Amino acid sequence: MRSAKPLKQLKLSVPAQEAPVSNFLTASGTFQDGDLLLNQKGLRLLSEEKQSQPSETKEFDSEFSLADFETIRVIGKGSGGVVQLVRHKWTGQLYALKAIQMNIQETIRKQIVQELKINQGSQSPYIVVCHHSLYHNGIISLVLEYMDRGSLTDVVKQVKTILEPYLAVVCKQVLQGLVHLHNERRVIHRDIKPSNLLVNQKGEVKITDFGVSAVASSMGQRDTFVGTYNYMAPERINGKSYDYKSDIWSLGMVILECAIGSFPYSRPDQEEGNLSFYELLEAIVDQPAPSAPPDQFSPEFCSFISSCIQKDPQKRLSAVELLSHPFIKKFENQDIDFGILVATLEAPTNFPR
Ligand code: ATP
Ligand code: MG
Repeated sequence: MRSAKPLKQLKLSVPAQEAPVSNFLTASGTFQDGDLLLNQKGLRLLSEEKQSQPSETKEFDSEFSLADFETIRVIGKGSGGVVQLVRHKWTGQLYALKAIQMNIQETIRKQIVQELKINQGSQSPYIVVCHHSLYHNGIISLVLEYMDRGSLTDVVKQVKTILEPYLAVVCKQVLQGLVHLHNERRVIHRDIKPSNLLVNQKGEVKITDFGVSAVASSMGQRDTFVGTYNYMAPERINGKSYDYKSDIWSLGMVILECAIGSFPYSRPDQEEGNLSFYELLEAIVDQPAPSAPPDQFSPEFCSFISSCIQKDPQKRLSAVELLSHPFIKKFENQDIDFGILVATLEAPTNFPR
């Protein structure tokens, strides 16, 4: 629906970053790496084109250009850039437009290119769709599916705790997203946290920010850390090698936090406030793994949490295994609608930081 109020001209901005400017941008403002080309008209893979159409000089047959969007408001701000709610002028369709600065190092660029290629591949209903990627003036803009109820952070802010039946429904969707990433795309998300689990009014929960955004965020964290290590598995925060199972630890931490209404580790001095990085490192690596209090939660829920939050990654279940865990199965045929819960909440209007 169009608002009567005139909309501001779309303006992209990202936090200032001091990273070495790389030399992968061509003079024409095209981001090129091997067979991948990205410019203000969109992204194209030359290898695919060679198979279907041999013309390498073909114009981008993109249906999107930044000029086709009008901005409605800023809906979020992360370490990688700003997220705006935008409307496509011709179709009226709403999208979330995420802008990421691209003056970055070679190694990070390689990862981004890899992820852009993955983004072009198969989609899943449990992953936020990246409709398009555009490059303009040193900024990559991702045209994302708009999730109108914000993130799990926004939901928990309002409801304080989420009851087990709803958690089971949330978990099942996140696990299906993780199965897609781990088993089909063969990627580790690396940044499962409440702000990367987005919700819409239908009660759908989708994973976002793997790939380009995650890489860009971690890049931002290198110099000025603004993200969070809260959900990071012990092997990761400790700098050891890690695999898909590190996402399972993070999922367990997110779900436990949603159930108890606070971050599972508290400060050693029992004072209020966030843990410093070193307190967190000490807690995650040296303290026993957090668990769900059995006097407050069902045995199935407690077992589910302990199947995720195990300090030894090998003892954690995989996403596929967790999908058939008794906690997920228990509520499967009960027609639990997470949409009913989120419908009672206020939609986020301002960016939550
Ligand atoms: P960090 O940068 O530390 O990872 P973050 O995940 O909060 O933190 P962003 O990914 O930039 O940072 O997102 C900022 C906020 O924008 C999110 O918390 C969410 O509220 C909102 N947001 C992001 N993508 C979408 C989307 N596709 N639909 C609706 N809201 C979104
Ligand atoms: Mg995010």
